[in-house]
Amino acid sequence: MLQSPLPELVASFERQRQALALDPDPTLATRLSRLDRLAAWLDSHESDIVRAIDADFQGRSAHETRLAEVFVVRAGIRHARRHLRQWMRTQRVPTALHFRPGYNRLMSQPLGVVGIIAPWNYPLQLSLGPALAALAAGNRVLIKPSELTPRLSALLASMACEIFNPNELDVAIGDVELGKAFASLPFDHLFFTGSTQVGRDVAQAAAVNLTPVTLELGGKSPAILDASCNVTVAAQRIAFGKLLNAGQTCVAPDYLLVPAGTAENVASHLERAITKLYPKLAANPDYTAIISERHRARLAEMVREARAAGARVIEVNPAGEAFNEARKFPPTLVINAPADTRLMREEIFGPVLPIVEYANLDDALAYVQRKARPLALYWFGDDASRRNRALRETVSGGVTINDCLWHLVQESQPFGGVGPSGMGAYHGKWGFDTFSKLKPVFHQNRWNGAGMFHPPYGHTFNWLLGVLSRIA
Ligand code: NAD
Repeated sequence: MLQSPLPELVASFERQRQALALDPDPTLATRLSRLDRLAAWLDSHESDIVRAIDADFQGRSAHETRLAEVFVVRAGIRHARRHLRQWMRTQRVPTALHFRPGYNRLMSQPLGVVGIIAPWNYPLQLSLGPALAALAAGNRVLIKPSELTPRLSALLASMACEIFNPNELDVAIGDVELGKAFASLPFDHLFFTGSTQVGRDVAQAAAVNLTPVTLELGGKSPAILDASCNVTVAAQRIAFGKLLNAGQTCVAPDYLLVPAGTAENVASHLERAITKLYPKLAANPDYTAIISERHRARLAEMVREARAAGARVIEVNPAGEAFNEARKFPPTLVINAPADTRLMREEIFGPVLPIVEYANLDDALAYVQRKARPLALYWFGDDASRRNRALRETVSGGVTINDCLWHLVQESQPFGGVGPSGMGAYHGKWGFDTFSKLKPVFHQNRWNGAGMFHPPYGHTFNWLLGVLSRIA
């Protein structure tokens, strides 16, 4: 596999630092040109992207690549292009009476050289999504894609050579060791998408340089079915949200919470919904494979452990296909998995869906609250007061009501986790702000009263502070 040696990584970083010193605040035209080049490259390379990710996964739905990778990045570029002039504008902000006629302005400024570490599950979206925000904010960008998607990584590297000067955007290719070296570079901001475990290491490496980090992590995202929900519709939407990319989606519903006594009924609705979406699985190009044999074996082991512990396992395989050769994994519903099984403790990240029954809403909310704060939460139901309780009493990165995933692609909303599912956010203006220094500037007037606060301190000072303490 192609690999960037360490000295090359450091040289690439230094090149960008030097370029930054020469042009620390690129003009709107320069930033738009970078975004335009990226958009044009996406337009002309869509089929290369589809082929590369398909080869990396040994079976990635072309439609999913077009929707969840190319379309999402393209929409992000279009949104940024449309709003960039406004985002870059120095803003007027209010000034308290006693500081007038001085006035406040808030200006945005590129942070400098930004590092982006990407995972394998949406290798294009999660490299170029943050990159487009960083470029819009006027930064230099160095990307380290995942070692598990070598073909897409090579394509990104050739994109960088083709359309960017390496001092604008560059790609460092390598494994975990290169990732460690990458995270230890003194970036002006480090943006990491990946597992919570590695996120911790990345945050520690960045802390040595006091490099600020955005961590886009994972976790177990619940979907709560309320008694008021339409189970048929909920099952269709959950089946889509869970099986997109074969469940290898950070915001996929990880497990279902359903009212007591309804698990079997929900499971049979899900079986029907899955069969409709995927009448065949192993031999279906719409159904994506698992990224590696190691990941596939992990899922199989988690299901085996739950079954051995007494859970009821329902493998959905409408055409009765054999999965021996393919790296695909059949959609699997698991009822009554004990709480101490890996399935109920670890992020699943595959097409396996545990169904857990709850006695009442208090019980369901307590279940979610006991676990680490999730990246996403889904609520299905029409009862507004119970929905509002769930919204108020749980903390998660984001929420979609009566569907799955869609809050992630709202350019006018921030996307990010909370606590163990991440820190910081991006998308739209939030991405621009993440990669900008928002610098407050106070313009002092020639005529002002600030001199009254200077020493030697005395009556005037005491009187003025007394007055201001009452009105400020
Ligand atoms: P991972 O954490 O194993 O790897 C992510 C990246 O970090 C890879 O490029 C890898 O080479 C690099 N890396 C590994 N060890 C490193 C280290 N010590 N220092 C620096 N870099 C290192 O994650 P993954 O398996 O590629 O992705 C799956 C995880 O990502 C899941 O937990 C999923 O929930 C999460 N995820 C989160 C989001 C989000 O937006 N919040 C999106 C996609 C995936």
